[in-house]
Amino acid sequence: MTPDPVSFDVLDRASGVLLGQACGDALGVPYEFDYPPEGEAEMRGGGLGPYAPGEWSDDTQMAICVARVSERGGALDTEAELDEIAAAFEEWFARGATDVGAQTRTVLGDAARMQGSPSARLVAASEQLHTRTGKTAGNGALMRTGVVGLVALTDREATARAATAVARLTHADPLAAESCVLWSEAIRVAVTEERLDLRSGLDLLPEDRRDRWAAWITDAESERPVADLQNNGFTVTAFQAAWHAIFRSPFFSAGQITEYDHMVSHLPDALHRAVRIGGDTDTVAAIAGALLGARHGTRYIPREWAFAVHGWPGVRGIDVSRMGRRTAQHGLFEAASTETETAEVALTTPETGQTCPVCGTVNRQLERYPDQVCLWCVAWATDETGRGVLLFNASFSGGLDAQYDDGTPATPAARSGRILIGGRRYYAQEARFGGIVVLPAD
Ligand SMILES: [Mg+2]
Repeated sequence: MTPDPVSFDVLDRASGVLLGQACGDALGVPYEFDYPPEGEAEMRGGGLGPYAPGEWSDDTQMAICVARVSERGGALDTEAELDEIAAAFEEWFARGATDVGAQTRTVLGDAARMQGSPSARLVAASEQLHTRTGKTAGNGALMRTGVVGLVALTDREATARAATAVARLTHADPLAAESCVLWSEAIRVAVTEERLDLRSGLDLLPEDRRDRWAAWITDAESERPVADLQNNGFTVTAFQAAWHAIFRSPFFSAGQITEYDHMVSHLPDALHRAVRIGGDTDTVAAIAGALLGARHGTRYIPREWAFAVHGWPGVRGIDVSRMGRRTAQHGLFEAASTETETAEVALTTPETGQTCPVCGTVNRQLERYPDQVCLWCVAWATDETGRGVLLFNASFSGGLDAQYDDGTPATPAARSGRILIGGRRYYAQEARFGGIVVLPAD
């Protein structure tokens, strides 16, 4: 049965995919093809861009090209949608790209001199490169596949088809698409079933490829893999390195995350490990971050990271969080509308629900507060200087209060409920039956 399209938990994990990826990317940026950190990675910028502190690189930039199509309801299974993604890649390459992987640069450069639709040109250019060199299994498709795992949360075959189609736009080698099928399916499973299981998609691969991938996964799980994880420009090694970091974290003991402390610590610990592997640090951590975010959701992504990340095309964490959530919700509404068995509980539909005025996510109808800002957007509330604030009910006096993440009181304006979200003004007040409600200021 289709998960409830307004389920907080499912949508929170979906929101975590691109946000987790963005955090991994920005953490890895300073160390790309340089000395990896000895301790914890820091989002201090630099790297190949050079980037500002907290800025993400090409990995998240290209993922956003995909997400801008999927968040409007695209299942990424039509030529028109693939054309839109391909055109977005070309636009990014021409105007937005701060650094570009070698293979992607060649494919986009060659495609620009060809005739035909954007996706046909890209596919042709990547196939020609493959015929010419036999080497087109770079990690550049895997690094942007996270959001593809959200387009069809109830349909594993559709997820695999989308992952393959998006990968093939720039990467003709079947290994690239296979890595994307496995990673996207793992993300789908993490969001819908709260499990981290990289083997769940093995049966979606051609039969004669499954044993190789199973062996690569097993190798990645060992303490000292045979594969040279640092040599991770290759999609198989990048895949192994990202999984190694996730699997070998002590907070993922015996493949399980059972305790609260482990839930809190797993994502940051695994991302630091991913960066410490070295090589293409931002890409490996971006790949790992997408799957970790899918499993843990935004609530276990450190707030200082969530607020710090930003990048092309002039967007921030709040935006990539929305892109994942809306991609997932569109697919769930679509699945619910075509479901033949009668659901026991009437599901919320876009018509019967209410829409968050900030992000457009549909939530259950609340007659008293039809313009209520959703909980995900409230989490991005700031004071007038842009500093994140936490809103809560004052325990003794009643009413609303606001403080910073370090526990100090927020500005008088924020404490009286005058806050900003995404730079726009909103008004927070105590809800009639407890909790906080945030509404548009005018
Ligand atoms: Mg990068």
